[in-house]
Amino acid sequence: MSDPSDSAEAIAESVFHYAVEQSAIAIAITDVAARILYVNPAFSRITGYERDEVLGQSQSVLSYKTTPRSVYEAMWSELTAGRPWSGRLLNRRRDGTPYVADLTVTPVCRPGSDERCYLGMHWDATEAHRTAQQLRNHKQLVESVISVVPFAVALLDGSGRVVLDNPAYRRVAAELGVSEPASTVMAELRERLGETYTRAIAQRRALEGQELFFERPGRDPRWYACALSWFEERSTGPDALYSDVRNDYALLVMQDVTAARRQEEALRLAAMRAMLSEGELDQSLREALSGAIFQLQGPVNLISAAATLQRRRAGAAGETDPLAKALADAQRAGEAAIATLQAAMPPEPATVTAPVNLNEVLRDVLMLETDALLAAGISVDWRPTHALPPVQGEAGALRTLFRQLVTNAIEAMNERGRTERVLTVTTRASSGQVTVGISDTGPGVPEALRLKVFEPFFSTKQSRGGTRGVGLALAQEIVSRHRGVLGIDANYGTGCKLDVSFPSARAPEPVPVESYG
Ligand code: FAD
Repeated sequence: MSDPSDSAEAIAESVFHYAVEQSAIAIAITDVAARILYVNPAFSRITGYERDEVLGQSQSVLSYKTTPRSVYEAMWSELTAGRPWSGRLLNRRRDGTPYVADLTVTPVCRPGSDERCYLGMHWDATEAHRTAQQLRNHKQLVESVISVVPFAVALLDGSGRVVLDNPAYRRVAAELGVSEPASTVMAELRERLGETYTRAIAQRRALEGQELFFERPGRDPRWYACALSWFEERSTGPDALYSDVRNDYALLVMQDVTAARRQEEALRLAAMRAMLSEGELDQSLREALSGAIFQLQGPVNLISAAATLQRRRAGAAGETDPLAKALADAQRAGEAAIATLQAAMPPEPATVTAPVNLNEVLRDVLMLETDALLAAGISVDWRPTHALPPVQGEAGALRTLFRQLVTNAIEAMNERGRTERVLTVTTRASSGQVTVGISDTGPGVPEALRLKVFEPFFSTKQSRGGTRGVGLALAQEIVSRHRGVLGIDANYGTGCKLDVSFPSARAPEPVPVESYG
């Protein structure tokens, strides 16, 4: 009976020779001096050398002579220490053409012999090298294009982490004073677009042409045109070799459009100034005409009563009585005059309510009041909150409201001997409310008068004959119309601080499942 393990060894030994001979990898066995003792057919196929041509030759016959010497030194230092070496060398075929050899050399010790051999196995890695190099070039090209484009670019992974950005993006971070502008942009988009944003994130839909405005405390605001698109990457992990594992990335592009917007803003402000002065003119005309109508209405009423009395007195001759006739004529003339005045009254402006961003309203007001603030030597401390939810209201009325409050603050501080003149304007959002704080370093409002100042025609200042005292009452009326609350902050130390709160137009939405932004 033959030993089964003996026969398995015998089979393995006989198969071993054929396996080496038929291997697709080029195999060479050399002596300790790298002289070739054996090569397989794949070696001949790859190098172009027949077996007989290379037997006894040094392996250096394959060298293209451009591989750096340090590579060979590193290789031989491993081999002489009895350790295998793997690496890439530039080889020359028999016909002189170069190819990249992916080579592994293993020292082989033979039983009963002190002299070691080397087993060299290599394959033609020219294509693999070309592909890897093309990929590197491509990546470098993309990176250099991204680094010079004037747009800020950031690539965000599935958890919203920035995995790639460019110098323009880092400049935006410095300009906005935030470490990761992408998070700020995502939060702003979510706030602004609400449900549309949540759907776009869930369905990986692009968001284009989103212009965002960023306040910067103490500095000019900036505008960015933002676009969000999606990029799907096939996973490079081994588990994705035969399955279609993909990773999603969001590509955020931000273009600074501040210069263009600033120009538009200047034009808008000029138009707004013209509109406001026209509105103010209409308002004073309305007030003057109402006063005149009121003044006229009294005498006309008296004449009308006298005419009725005289007609009654004259009895049957009432129609021809000269006094009754004169009084009736005077009454008609008076009523005609009132009708003419009423017809001349400019119409009340139409009120349109829409979501209004109070940061923008306040910025407009501060710009409109720049001259008055400079003339009074007042410095402005403008502290807006990013991503302020809108309030539902009339932009014009809200502008009038804050203009009134700012004008009051300027007046309060603009008095002889007052050295500290700072107007602080803040915005914040919490619990579904948007609150604006306007504080000054003026004399403040005594506690006893804190409710009284909101009454019409009440003023803490001496009247100079104008409509003093209607300001806060008017402000109160606008605030109430917007379902807001206006009050004096009782805990404010020096000067006066007014807080105005409005319900925000949209309730805060739950954070979407995906963690972008
Ligand atoms: P070399 O004269 O070989 O000198 C290069 C450096 O290697 C020197 O620092 C030298 O000191 C050291 N060195 C050379 N021979 C030995 C040695 N026997 N013991 C210790 N140090 C030594 N090279 C290729 O270019 N392409 C191949 O495909 C390739 N396949 C190889 C396969 C095997 C199994 C082995 C053992 C070597 C292989 N080599 C291959 C390396 C080759 O032997 C040469 O070292 C190399 O080609 C450089 O030749 P060279 O004449 O320019 O310089």
